[in-house]
Parts: sequence; structure tokens; C-alpha cells
Amino acid sequence: MTRATSLGSPRAKPFIVEQTAAAGDQSTRLWEEFRQLTSENFARCTQCGRCTAGCPLASDMDLSPTRVLRSLQLGQVERAARSLAIWFCVSCQVCTTRCPQEVDIAHTMDSLRELARRHGLEHPGSRDILSFHRSLLAVVRRYGRLREFPLVRGYKLRTWHFFQDLLVAPRLFFRGKIHLLPKEIAAVEAVRQVFARSGVPL
Ligand code: SF4
Ligand code: SF4
Repeated sequence: MTRATSLGSPRAKPFIVEQTAAAGDQSTRLWEEFRQLTSENFARCTQCGRCTAGCPLASDMDLSPTRVLRSLQLGQVERAARSLAIWFCVSCQVCTTRCPQEVDIAHTMDSLRELARRHGLEHPGSRDILSFHRSLLAVVRRYGRLREFPLVRGYKLRTWHFFQDLLVAPRLFFRGKIHLLPKEIAAVEAVRQVFARSGVPL
């Protein structure tokens, strides 16, 4: 049985994680890949709940930020990666700012999203959120910045929510918030190279 190392080291695995990860190859592989994405020391979390108390989306999450951290302490990385909570997180950083133990929860959520995406663990309820995310990335890659009209068009084609927020569109258009003929930025090629180097699938 593997014993815990120093709790102060950012790379140290919580002792429960080391024991649990040994239980199955799949969970061990997932855990090791997850640790490539983040070196956060989850053993530092004391389950004080300050992150959840400040999170604006906590009431809609299936796992609160505190429980996500607890899952990771227990080595249940797949449970955390399959949660809907990680897709509801808007990376506002409130949790990270409030944490007295300096655990970067927002980055942890980001790493879990990346792990879920790589392994097809996305929660079924995240479909629309992912569609929006992919539409946004496609627009930024194409134009070098956000453009509302192509973003909404891409989102609706992906989700078939053709009538969602339909009455909002004319108001936004007449207030100059939506431009039908979006232009690229001057350095759009540099942005595309960033996407190409990142290997982000759209
Ligand atoms: S605020 Fe920090 S220490 Fe408290 S529960 Fe959240 S992650 Fe853990
Ligand atoms: S970063 Fe995510 S988990 Fe943290 S407070 Fe904001 S929405 Fe909640």
C-alpha cells in the first residue's frame, strides 16, 4: 500500500487517492492524466465550504465545488469529470479567491472539463453548453475575435434551438449589438496558428 508523501508539496497525491487509484487501471490512468493537467494539491482542502458559499452557480450544480474537491480527495476523478457541475462553472474565480487553503478550484474545474472532453465523459446535460463552447471557438478561429451573429448561427445549427431567444435578436440588431457582416481582425492568421498549435478539435 502506497503511503502519502508531504501534504505541502503541490505534486503530492492525497493518501486516499493513492489507495483508491490502485483499485483499477482505468481510474489510475485517468488520475495520472488528470495530474498532467493540474498539479493542484487537493489534500490541502479542509472542506470548509467557502468556495461553494461564494459560487454563483452552486445551487444549479449536481456536485458543489466542495464536493468536487472531496471526490478528488477520494480519488474519484471519473465521478468529478462526469459531473454536470464542471460545465456549469463559468470560471469566475470566486471560489479560488475565497479559498483559505489557496486551492485553485477554477483551474481544477477547467482541468476536469479537458479530461472529460478527451475521454468522452461529458455529462449528457452539457450538450448545449458544449455546443455554445464549440461555436464560440469556431468563430474566434475564423474571425480572430467574437462575432455575435456567426456565434448564434453556429449554436442554433448545432442544437436546433431555432426559436430560442428569437425575439431578443431584433432588439440586439437595432441597438447595433449584432453585425450581419462580421470582419476579421488584422492578425487573424496569428490567432489561427494558436488554434493549430493547441490542437483543439472543434
Ligand atoms: S474553500 Fe478551499 S478549503 Fe474550503 S472547501 Fe473550498 S477548496 Fe476546500
Ligand atoms: S469558478 Fe466556477 S466553481 Fe468557482 S465560483 Fe466560479 S462558477 Fe463556481
